[in-house]
Amino acid sequence: MSQHILTLCYLIGSVTFIVGLKMLSNPAAARKGNWVAAAGMSIAILGTIFLYKDSKTGAYLHNYAWIFGGLIIGGIIGTLSAKKVQMTAMPEMVSLFNGMGGACAALISLVEFDHVSKAIAENNSEAFIAFLQPKVLIIVLGLIIGSVSFAGSMIAWGKLNGKVKDFSFKGQNILNLIFLAIAIGAAGYLVYVPEYHTLLYVILVLSLLYGVLFVLPIGGADMPVVISLLNSFTGVAAACGGFLYDNKVMLTGGILVGAAGTLLTILMCKAMNRSLKNVLIGSFGGNTATAASGGSSSQGVHKEISLSDTAMIMSYANKVMIVPGYGLAVAQAQHICHELEKILTEKGVEVKYAIHPVAGRMPGHMNVLLAEADVSYDNLLEMEQANEEFSTTDVVLILGANDVVNPAAKSDPASPIYGMPILDVELAKTVVVNKRSMKPGYAGIENELFFRPKTSMLFGDAKKVLQDLCAEIKNA
Ligand code: NDP
Repeated sequence: MSQHILTLCYLIGSVTFIVGLKMLSNPAAARKGNWVAAAGMSIAILGTIFLYKDSKTGAYLHNYAWIFGGLIIGGIIGTLSAKKVQMTAMPEMVSLFNGMGGACAALISLVEFDHVSKAIAENNSEAFIAFLQPKVLIIVLGLIIGSVSFAGSMIAWGKLNGKVKDFSFKGQNILNLIFLAIAIGAAGYLVYVPEYHTLLYVILVLSLLYGVLFVLPIGGADMPVVISLLNSFTGVAAACGGFLYDNKVMLTGGILVGAAGTLLTILMCKAMNRSLKNVLIGSFGGNTATAASGGSSSQGVHKEISLSDTAMIMSYANKVMIVPGYGLAVAQAQHICHELEKILTEKGVEVKYAIHPVAGRMPGHMNVLLAEADVSYDNLLEMEQANEEFSTTDVVLILGANDVVNPAAKSDPASPIYGMPILDVELAKTVVVNKRSMKPGYAGIENELFFRPKTSMLFGDAKKVLQDLCAEIKNA
């Protein structure tokens, strides 16, 4: 009976993962989706702890002190760090948590191989070894993928928090491929001769080395794409665990994470118009020091606008479109931005937000940021919709966005962002750009928009500028 209830728990877990994931694709339902999936996971975990019975011995789990000790410690650390984390540090945290998932998958493989070794020591017959070979195959797959994901995620985490610097040397990609090839070769041999258990540690060390070396040279700013890729690796490694334990919920969860991570990686590359190969062995975003930081450049001279003039043109506009970018997140200006929207709306101005798919530093960054400030989802326009509405917009206010409005993506085939779809802000009557200086954004390139006749620069920290702008419009 208990095993039927456990199967039901797993079924509920699997269904809630799928439903939760579906809900995550809509900003209005995303929070609930997270809860739904977490509730399903809790049911699956508690079901396993209290109902799982060893098929051979018939014994239930008994080491509750260890299990709940781990759950409590992990739960406290996870909750505290999730509450504390800044929106801009989210990719860092995802990376750390993802690395833990990869480490779990690798540890499962190590433990399970130990069981295989013990079983072989008791029964060394050819038939029994042949019976164990598929299991060994899954074990080594989980070990390689989990270790790469763990090591790579740790390096990505270190890079994002500035502790690890970009590092590469000539021929590194070839050396990486050699490590991977040896690890795969050793894994193949181990499946064939599972008695040769020392090879398992060779595979572990080579996979860890590969994980480190493959992420080390990638430009720090490319990390979100890499993290998404590593996320999909962890999913596949967890699915291997699901195969090993014949655990349906682990298998479903792993496959969902693997598929979602892969899709996200593809979507991010597409939204930036870059191939995955280019992200993995290119150096985009790695060098931002070359671009202009002064008042004039090869593009000409930019013009500035005062706060009071900005307040005036916005107050008298019929329609204002706000374009949020990474700088808005850095300045934590989402709440005051919503305040500006409310003040303008009260004055009869129609205010909307134009959201570029890769504005910020992670997918959905701007949606989550603005949701935090209670901005209505109805006012958030996706890029295609926004591009249709710019021609009827009086004022575009760009807040800490740069690459996602750079016309070079359309006009300059030599630009690293050439081909990336952008927000066509120039279709509006007036464009006001708020940032702190003329420095470039993520791509490290100059933005010709800043020098165009319709554009005026409003320099300053986004939060301070918006506070002053709100005060100015209120007093107008
Ligand atoms: P950018 O990084 O292009 O530009 C951000 C701008 O914000 C900078 O030019 C900076 O200028 C300004 N800024 C920084 N701090 C502040 C502040 N406190 N107040 C006001 N402005 C500030 O950001 P975008 O959002 O336009 O573009 C995102 C980029 O990130 C794209 O190139 C995208 O491909 C990339 N990317 C996005 C991912 C995603 O999933 N979203 C993943 C990987 C990469 P200044 O220093 O002068 O203030």
